[in-house]
Amino acid sequence: MQTIQSKILFEKAQNLIPGGVNSPVRAFKSVGGTPIFMQSGRGAYLYDEDGNRYVELINSWGPMILGHANPIIEKAIGEAIAKSFSFGAPTRREVEMAELIISMMPSIEKIRMVNSGTEATMAAIRVARGFTGRNKILKFEGCYHGHADSFLIAAGSGAITTGVPDSAGVTAGVAQDTLTAPFNDFEAVKTLIEANENQIAALILEPVVGNMGCVLPENGFLEKIRKICTEKGIVLIFDEVMTGFRLARGGAQEIFGIKPDLTTLGKIIGGGLPVGAYGGRKEIMDCVSPVGKVYQAGTLSGNPVAMAAGFAMLTHLNENPTIYQDLTKITTQITEGLRKGLDKRGLKYTMNQIGSMFTLFFTDQKVTNLASAKTSDLGLFGKYFHSMLSKGVYLAPSQFESMFVSTAISAEDIRHITEAHEASLTEILG
Ligand SMILES: *Cc1c(COP(=O)(O)O)cnc(C)c1O
Repeated sequence: MQTIQSKILFEKAQNLIPGGVNSPVRAFKSVGGTPIFMQSGRGAYLYDEDGNRYVELINSWGPMILGHANPIIEKAIGEAIAKSFSFGAPTRREVEMAELIISMMPSIEKIRMVNSGTEATMAAIRVARGFTGRNKILKFEGCYHGHADSFLIAAGSGAITTGVPDSAGVTAGVAQDTLTAPFNDFEAVKTLIEANENQIAALILEPVVGNMGCVLPENGFLEKIRKICTEKGIVLIFDEVMTGFRLARGGAQEIFGIKPDLTTLGKIIGGGLPVGAYGGRKEIMDCVSPVGKVYQAGTLSGNPVAMAAGFAMLTHLNENPTIYQDLTKITTQITEGLRKGLDKRGLKYTMNQIGSMFTLFFTDQKVTNLASAKTSDLGLFGKYFHSMLSKGVYLAPSQFESMFVSTAISAEDIRHITEAHEASLTEILG
């Protein structure tokens, strides 16, 4: 497979854009090599600048759940564009969008649209702070909530330590208000909450984690979190930017039967266009300006073209709930195909899957948190990634990411993925 155009473009891009990319993980830094520059996408496939075809297992990190250039979304975008690209005034579609989301996710009583997942989580913790009058937030090691300062905090050496910034440019002042615990470790959460009595405004988590690879909550973990947040007056925020409308019509909260106080959304909600949202209990959301004292605004928020794309996407998912069973079936066929090849060679691995999200970890340990995810053999992953790429399968270019399967994947594509996997294992293991 020739990727000359990608190499030329990457060369040029590095002089013009930091690292040649507009979001770091795209740079292939953790797997090495040159990122592939894409030209178009259709259904289950991406086509690069050299005309190579790839079967998609990332789908723009989640949003393209119906595959690329889905005609339903395309039509909605076309119709919206004909009426203006932006109004900066309220529209009927925003009301319909709010109504639809609230009907799909009953824990949301009021909702505000923004332009990205980052904006949604940033606003959600501001609202939680405004509502509670408290300063601190509690998050989990390995959970990603966008790039706002408060979330770029590493766990440090132990669960009981206060945050240390993970990124240059985040002040110690901000970091000290972010507490971190290992995922699935309720005892650590309890200890932190007791040590910071009446100081924690919000506990935020990905109910199913996608951002350290796919990691599931252990039995009872979310229930215990819900209970202690209620007891201690802490606003529980489910960051469903990734899982919302991906794992079920009503997100992970529907699957696990837990009602958070606030929910943040993004990715699928925009049908591929830049959209985010946050919403939840009425009395908390009524803290938001212009009703309440928490300021949050956006020139392009509720943009008519983005709303049209998102509304078409959510309407389709809402009206075809069997999509989620179909997606689980397709994804399980993929993961079973992968397992077969791995088992045959006696390679140690862990496969985490829920619905249409999965990660193959190159480790013999059970992966339940960041520390166990980090036991993976990253060198082996890098080789595997490149081997699959050269065989036309587009995986996430990092061990610590989830795959996202779309409805566009056919039996033929699954066969292609399985065969590429077998050939890749032979290539890297000999
Ligand atoms: C992607 C993601 C975000 C950030 O969303 P952006 O649109 O990239 O700003 C936040 N939280 C979770 C769980 C995500 O997966």
